[in-house]
Amino acid sequence: MLLTIGLLTWLLLMFSMERIWLRRGSADATFRRVGANLFLGGINWGLARLLVPGGLVLVALFAEVRLWGAWPFLGLNGIFEIILSIVFLDLAIWLQHWASHKIGWLWRIHRVHHLDICVDASTAVRFHPAEIFVSLAYKAMLIISLGISSFAVASFEILLAASAMFNHANMRLPDSLDKMLRVLIVTPDMHRIHHSIDRSEHDTNFGFFFSFWDKVFGVYTENPKTPHVKMLLGLHESRVATRVRSLWHLLLAPFVTKI
Ligand SMILES: [Zn+2]
Ligand SMILES: [Zn+2]
Repeated sequence: MLLTIGLLTWLLLMFSMERIWLRRGSADATFRRVGANLFLGGINWGLARLLVPGGLVLVALFAEVRLWGAWPFLGLNGIFEIILSIVFLDLAIWLQHWASHKIGWLWRIHRVHHLDICVDASTAVRFHPAEIFVSLAYKAMLIISLGISSFAVASFEILLAASAMFNHANMRLPDSLDKMLRVLIVTPDMHRIHHSIDRSEHDTNFGFFFSFWDKVFGVYTENPKTPHVKMLLGLHESRVATRVRSLWHLLLAPFVTKI
């Protein structure tokens, strides 16, 4: 409960910062679009609680008390275990995101995130429930097989949610700060390139928290071809179909090809 309140406060802070340091025109910040994104986020929150009551932290605790997994077997614990687990889970999420752009059925559900023609803090929670289901099952499998501690899981879940809200924010950071942060973490300018309508840019910058995986795997784009304030976001089909802003169409999108 405390975690949910904390993340909602962070989301409100990101919305406020977007108003103060707005990066791009707010023409697409319609109540309908933002409302559909947030409602979808609410559905996913409820679904996750229904599928895994207590969340992934409880899954980790279940394995932890039984000493299951590779980490306890290797004797990993303390701060070293926490850092290694966060780095490993972040790599796993990077791989899942990369696979979501390469494998047909995964792309069908992930494209709901990319159909957004505007990227702001509300886009951070705009995922199809099927993608949440896949992600939960994938992370639960990793947590149990590696025996990742409940503290490391809780830390990673907070980092992932908070960084997704931050790097989707329609916010302009000073160039020097963006450059400094990008050495370690994904910034709004870095992730916005991943939402470019240009396929050669859209298939880069897959990171959600650490920025270095894209550099390691050679899929990093530093600057978009068109300046940030002018570049087109979304997918070609979403720019001609205004109906993809409604919640109903977002839920149906994986099953139809027109939107
Ligand atoms: Zn993507
Ligand atoms: Zn995104």
